[in-house]
Amino acid sequence: MVKIESVRKRFGQLEVLKGVSLDVPAGAVVCVVGPSGSGKSTLLRCVNRLETIDAGRVWVDGELMGFSEQGGKLHLLRPGDLCRQRQEIGMVFQRFHLFPHMTALENVMEGPCTVKRLSKAAAAERAMTLLERVGLADRAGYYPRQLSGGQQQRVAIARSLAMDPKLMLFDEPTSALDPELVQEVLQVMRDLAASGMTMIVVTHEMGFAREAGDHLVFIDDGVIVEEGPPREVLSSPRHERTRAFLGQVL
Ligand code: ADP
Ligand code: MG
Repeated sequence: MVKIESVRKRFGQLEVLKGVSLDVPAGAVVCVVGPSGSGKSTLLRCVNRLETIDAGRVWVDGELMGFSEQGGKLHLLRPGDLCRQRQEIGMVFQRFHLFPHMTALENVMEGPCTVKRLSKAAAAERAMTLLERVGLADRAGYYPRQLSGGQQQRVAIARSLAMDPKLMLFDEPTSALDPELVQEVLQVMRDLAASGMTMIVVTHEMGFAREAGDHLVFIDDGVIVEEGPPREVLSSPRHERTRAFLGQVL
Protein backbone atom coordinates (compact mmCIF):
# COMPACT_ATOMS: atom_id res chain seq x y z
CA MET A 1 0.00 0.00 0.00
CA VAL A 2 2.88 2.33 0.81
CA LYS A 3 6.37 2.26 -0.60
CA ILE A 4 8.85 4.79 0.71
CA GLU A 5 12.10 4.69 -1.21
CA SER A 6 15.31 6.45 -0.14
CA VAL A 7 13.53 9.58 1.02
CA ARG A 8 15.66 12.55 2.00
CA LYS A 9 14.37 15.73 3.52
CA ARG A 10 16.24 18.78 4.77
CA PHE A 11 15.18 21.99 6.43
CA GLY A 12 17.93 24.45 5.53
CA GLN A 13 21.20 23.01 6.81
CA LEU A 14 19.49 20.33 8.83
CA GLU A 15 19.01 16.99 7.12
CA VAL A 16 16.06 15.44 8.93
CA LEU A 17 15.55 12.30 6.81
CA LYS A 18 18.73 10.74 5.50
CA GLY A 19 17.49 8.13 3.07
CA VAL A 20 14.53 6.34 4.59
CA SER A 21 12.96 3.32 2.90
CA LEU A 22 9.93 1.47 4.16
CA ASP A 23 7.28 -0.83 2.71
CA VAL A 24 3.83 -1.09 4.22
CA PRO A 25 1.70 -3.92 2.82
CA ALA A 26 -2.07 -3.44 2.56
CA GLY A 27 -3.73 -4.09 5.89
CA ALA A 28 -0.51 -3.85 7.88
CA VAL A 29 0.02 -1.74 10.99
CA VAL A 30 3.50 -0.28 11.10
CA CYS A 31 4.52 1.46 14.32
CA VAL A 32 7.28 4.05 14.26
CA VAL A 33 9.15 4.88 17.44
CA GLY A 34 12.19 7.02 18.17
CA PRO A 35 13.47 9.96 20.17
CA SER A 36 12.01 13.44 19.89
CA GLY A 37 13.41 15.24 16.85
CA SER A 38 14.44 12.03 15.05
CA GLY A 39 12.20 12.77 12.03
CA LYS A 40 9.06 10.71 12.73
CA SER A 41 6.52 13.47 12.06
CA THR A 42 8.46 14.62 9.02
CA LEU A 43 8.37 11.07 7.64
CA LEU A 44 4.57 10.91 7.98
CA ARG A 45 4.24 14.36 6.43
CA CYS A 46 6.39 13.25 3.49
CA VAL A 47 4.00 10.35 2.87
CA ASN A 48 0.99 12.59 2.26
CA ARG A 49 3.16 15.36 0.89
CA LEU A 50 2.43 17.93 3.53
CA GLU A 51 6.20 18.25 2.97
CA THR A 52 8.00 18.12 -0.33
CA ILE A 53 10.96 15.74 -0.43
CA ASP A 54 14.50 16.41 -1.65
CA ALA A 55 15.21 12.92 -2.95
CA GLY A 56 13.55 9.55 -3.18
CA ARG A 57 9.98 8.56 -3.96
CA VAL A 58 6.79 7.68 -2.21
CA TRP A 59 4.05 5.52 -3.68
CA VAL A 60 0.63 5.03 -2.14
CA ASP A 61 -1.52 2.29 -3.59
CA GLY A 62 0.67 2.12 -6.68
CA GLU A 63 0.53 5.86 -7.34
CA LEU A 64 3.58 8.06 -7.12
CA MET A 65 2.82 10.84 -4.63
CA GLY A 66 3.14 14.39 -5.92
CA PHE A 67 4.34 13.52 -9.41
CA SER A 68 3.17 11.94 -12.60
CA GLU A 69 5.61 9.90 -14.62
CA GLN A 70 5.59 10.24 -18.39
CA GLY A 71 8.22 8.69 -20.62
CA GLY A 72 10.57 8.26 -17.68
CA LYS A 73 10.26 11.94 -16.73
CA LEU A 74 8.69 13.24 -13.55
CA HIS A 75 6.18 16.07 -13.68
CA LEU A 76 4.89 17.87 -10.62
CA LEU A 77 1.21 17.07 -10.11
CA ARG A 78 -1.28 19.87 -10.46
CA PRO A 79 -2.74 21.02 -7.10
CA GLY A 80 -6.11 19.40 -7.88
CA ASP A 81 -4.51 16.00 -8.45
CA LEU A 82 -2.43 16.32 -5.30
CA CYS A 83 -5.62 17.12 -3.35
CA ARG A 84 -7.22 13.96 -4.68
CA GLN A 85 -4.19 11.92 -3.60
CA ARG A 86 -4.28 13.47 -0.13
CA GLN A 87 -7.99 12.81 0.28
CA GLU A 88 -7.27 9.11 0.21
CA ILE A 89 -4.94 9.38 3.19
CA GLY A 90 -6.32 10.09 6.65
CA MET A 91 -4.16 11.80 9.24
CA VAL A 92 -4.66 12.07 12.97
CA PHE A 93 -2.46 14.44 14.97
CA GLN A 94 -1.47 14.74 18.60
CA ARG A 95 -3.75 17.79 18.84
CA PHE A 96 -7.22 17.02 17.57
CA HIS A 97 -7.89 20.16 15.50
CA LEU A 98 -11.67 19.76 15.57
CA PHE A 99 -13.74 22.70 14.37
CA PRO A 100 -14.75 24.30 17.70
CA HIS A 101 -18.01 25.80 16.43
CA MET A 102 -19.32 22.49 15.09
CA THR A 103 -20.80 19.52 16.94
CA ALA A 104 -19.14 16.12 16.83
CA LEU A 105 -21.58 15.08 14.11
CA GLU A 106 -20.97 18.23 12.06
CA ASN A 107 -17.21 17.78 12.36
CA VAL A 108 -17.51 14.28 10.89
CA MET A 109 -19.93 15.44 8.17
CA GLU A 110 -17.80 18.38 7.03
CA GLY A 111 -15.36 16.57 4.70
CA PRO A 112 -17.97 14.42 2.93
CA CYS A 113 -20.26 17.47 2.48
CA THR A 114 -17.73 19.98 1.21
CA VAL A 115 -15.19 17.76 -0.53
CA LYS A 116 -17.16 14.72 -1.62
CA ARG A 117 -20.35 16.78 -2.20
CA LEU A 118 -22.49 14.27 -0.35
CA SER A 119 -25.99 15.44 0.56
CA LYS A 120 -26.50 16.63 4.15
CA ALA A 121 -28.75 13.67 4.90
CA ALA A 122 -26.35 11.07 3.49
CA ALA A 123 -23.36 12.67 5.23
CA ALA A 124 -25.23 12.79 8.55
CA GLU A 125 -26.18 9.14 8.31
CA ARG A 126 -22.64 8.13 7.52
CA ALA A 127 -21.23 10.36 10.28
CA MET A 128 -23.58 8.76 12.78
CA THR A 129 -22.39 5.28 11.78
CA LEU A 130 -18.79 6.39 12.27
CA LEU A 131 -19.52 7.97 15.65
CA GLU A 132 -21.10 4.67 16.68
CA ARG A 133 -17.98 2.90 15.53
CA VAL A 134 -15.80 5.01 17.83
CA GLY A 135 -18.30 4.65 20.68
CA LEU A 136 -19.65 8.20 20.61
CA ALA A 137 -23.16 7.90 19.19
CA ASP A 138 -24.51 9.49 22.37
CA ARG A 139 -22.21 12.52 21.97
CA ALA A 140 -23.14 13.44 18.39
CA GLY A 141 -24.66 16.78 19.41
CA TYR A 142 -21.83 17.85 21.71
CA TYR A 143 -19.31 20.55 20.86
CA PRO A 144 -15.58 19.79 21.20
CA ARG A 145 -15.32 21.85 24.41
CA GLN A 146 -17.95 19.58 25.96
CA LEU A 147 -15.91 16.45 25.20
CA SER A 148 -12.89 14.95 26.96
CA GLY A 149 -9.57 14.81 25.12
CA GLY A 150 -10.06 11.11 24.47
CA GLN A 151 -13.53 11.71 23.06
CA GLN A 152 -12.27 14.57 20.88
CA GLN A 153 -9.54 12.34 19.49
CA ARG A 154 -12.10 9.62 18.71
CA VAL A 155 -14.19 12.23 16.85
CA ALA A 156 -11.03 13.23 14.95
CA ILE A 157 -10.52 9.58 13.95
CA ALA A 158 -14.16 9.31 12.83
CA ARG A 159 -13.72 12.51 10.85
CA SER A 160 -10.72 11.04 9.03
CA LEU A 161 -12.57 7.81 8.33
CA ALA A 162 -15.48 9.76 6.84
CA MET A 163 -13.29 10.49 3.82
CA ASP A 164 -12.95 6.75 3.24
CA PRO A 165 -9.14 6.67 3.32
CA LYS A 166 -7.00 3.84 1.99
CA LEU A 167 -4.36 4.61 4.54
CA MET A 168 -4.33 6.17 7.97
CA LEU A 169 -1.39 8.06 9.44
CA PHE A 170 -1.31 8.63 13.19
CA ASP A 171 1.17 11.08 14.71
CA GLU A 172 1.37 10.43 18.46
CA PRO A 173 -2.42 10.35 18.74
CA THR A 174 -2.40 9.75 22.50
CA SER A 175 0.53 11.93 23.56
CA ALA A 176 -1.62 14.93 24.50
CA LEU A 177 -4.09 12.88 26.53
CA ASP A 178 -4.39 12.36 30.26
CA PRO A 179 -3.18 8.83 31.03
CA GLU A 180 -6.64 7.48 31.86
CA LEU A 181 -7.92 8.51 28.40
CA VAL A 182 -5.19 6.81 26.37
CA GLN A 183 -6.72 3.34 26.26
CA GLU A 184 -10.08 4.37 24.80
CA VAL A 185 -8.28 5.90 21.82
CA LEU A 186 -5.92 2.92 21.44
CA GLN A 187 -8.97 0.61 21.51
CA VAL A 188 -10.51 2.49 18.57
CA MET A 189 -7.19 2.13 16.74
CA ARG A 190 -7.02 -1.59 17.54
CA ASP A 191 -10.54 -2.04 16.14
CA LEU A 192 -9.55 -0.12 13.04
CA ALA A 193 -6.47 -2.31 12.62
CA ALA A 194 -8.60 -5.43 13.03
CA SER A 195 -10.94 -4.17 10.31
CA GLY A 196 -8.01 -4.31 7.88
CA MET A 197 -7.04 -0.65 7.64
CA THR A 198 -3.46 0.05 6.59
CA MET A 199 -1.89 2.21 9.29
CA ILE A 200 1.38 3.96 10.04
CA VAL A 201 1.43 4.90 13.70
CA VAL A 202 4.02 7.08 15.38
CA THR A 203 3.64 6.30 19.06
CA HIS A 204 5.33 5.90 22.41
CA GLU A 205 2.76 3.28 23.43
CA MET A 206 4.91 0.16 23.30
CA GLY A 207 2.04 -2.03 24.49
CA PHE A 208 0.03 -0.99 21.43
CA ALA A 209 3.03 -1.56 19.17
CA ARG A 210 3.55 -5.03 20.63
CA GLU A 211 -0.08 -6.17 20.37
CA ALA A 212 -1.47 -4.34 17.37
CA GLY A 213 1.66 -3.72 15.31
CA ASP A 214 2.76 -6.02 12.51
CA HIS A 215 6.07 -4.25 12.17
CA LEU A 216 8.08 -1.90 14.37
CA VAL A 217 10.49 0.69 13.07
CA PHE A 218 13.00 2.48 15.29
CA ILE A 219 14.17 5.73 13.76
CA ASP A 220 16.97 7.88 15.16
CA ASP A 221 18.60 10.95 13.68
CA GLY A 222 16.84 10.57 10.33
CA VAL A 223 17.69 6.93 9.66
CA ILE A 224 15.94 3.64 10.35
CA VAL A 225 18.29 2.04 12.84
CA GLU A 226 16.37 -1.16 13.38
CA GLU A 227 13.07 -2.75 12.36
CA GLY A 228 11.26 -6.04 12.62
CA PRO A 229 8.42 -7.85 14.35
CA PRO A 230 7.47 -5.69 17.36
CA ARG A 231 7.95 -8.43 19.94
CA GLU A 232 11.45 -9.18 18.68
CA VAL A 233 12.59 -5.58 18.49
CA LEU A 234 11.13 -4.80 21.92
CA SER A 235 12.44 -7.89 23.70
CA SER A 236 15.83 -8.20 22.05
CA PRO A 237 16.92 -5.00 20.30
CA ARG A 238 20.11 -5.53 18.33
CA HIS A 239 21.44 -1.99 18.27
CA GLU A 240 22.80 -0.02 21.16
CA ARG A 241 20.77 3.06 20.17
CA THR A 242 17.53 1.03 20.19
CA ARG A 243 18.42 -0.44 23.58
CA ALA A 244 19.14 3.01 25.00
CA PHE A 245 15.85 4.40 23.68
CA LEU A 246 13.74 1.47 24.86
CA GLY A 247 15.45 1.63 28.23
CA GLN A 248 14.06 5.12 28.62
CA VAL A 249 10.49 4.53 27.47
CA LEU A 250 9.72 1.00 28.69
P1 ADP B 1 9.88 13.94 15.63
O1 ADP B 1 8.48 13.89 15.13
O2 ADP B 1 10.60 12.64 15.55
O3 ADP B 1 9.97 14.51 17.02
P2 ADP B 1 10.22 15.93 13.56
O4 ADP B 1 10.04 15.19 12.30
O5 ADP B 1 9.08 16.75 14.04
O6 ADP B 1 10.71 14.92 14.70
O7 ADP B 1 11.46 16.92 13.46
C1 ADP B 1 12.73 16.46 13.07
C2 ADP B 1 13.67 17.65 13.05
O8 ADP B 1 13.28 18.53 12.00
C3 ADP B 1 13.69 18.48 14.31
O9 ADP B 1 15.00 18.89 14.55
C4 ADP B 1 12.79 19.64 13.97
O10 ADP B 1 13.16 20.78 14.70
C5 ADP B 1 13.06 19.82 12.49
N1 ADP B 1 11.92 20.38 11.76
C6 ADP B 1 10.70 19.81 11.62
N2 ADP B 1 9.88 20.57 10.87
C7 ADP B 1 10.60 21.66 10.51
C8 ADP B 1 10.33 22.82 9.71
N3 ADP B 1 9.14 22.99 9.12
N4 ADP B 1 11.32 23.73 9.57
C9 ADP B 1 12.53 23.55 10.15
N5 ADP B 1 12.85 22.48 10.90
C10 ADP B 1 11.91 21.55 11.09
MG1 MG C 1 6.69 14.34 16.02
